[in-house]
Amino acid sequence: MKRHLRADQRELLLRTALEARDRAYAPYSRYAVGAALLSVNGALYSGCNIENAAYPVTICAERVAVFKAVSEGQREHLAIAVVTEDGGSPCGSCRQVLAEFGLDTIVILADGQGNVRLETDVRELLPNAFTPANLQKKG
Ligand SMILES: [Zn+2]
Repeated sequence: MKRHLRADQRELLLRTALEARDRAYAPYSRYAVGAALLSVNGALYSGCNIENAAYPVTICAERVAVFKAVSEGQREHLAIAVVTEDGGSPCGSCRQVLAEFGLDTIVILADGQGNVRLETDVRELLPNAFTPANLQKKG
């Protein structure tokens, strides 16, 4: 079901993602990312990318936000805002993690000044997604 985001919710998400971006730990890529996730019940979770000297264990801002929410019991999300220098799009791993918790989650991509570059949803970002529905028992 198509979700609707109010203007004040969009503002809150963008502001929170911009603030989270300031906390990014990205000494290697120097590509700071901030995310903010709004659950359907109104709870807000922020995330930033956290890199590591052992590069593969780095984690993206989007997944930090989703994992914080899920670990607090929030699995249904209205929208996520992601802020990067150039309005970059979530990586494949983050798209898959977002898809796990709902293809209808709205995704807002903004640049470092908070200008929205794209507003879409997970279904559009990850067409033909492999989801929990694929693993449901038949019959
Ligand atoms: Zn990612």
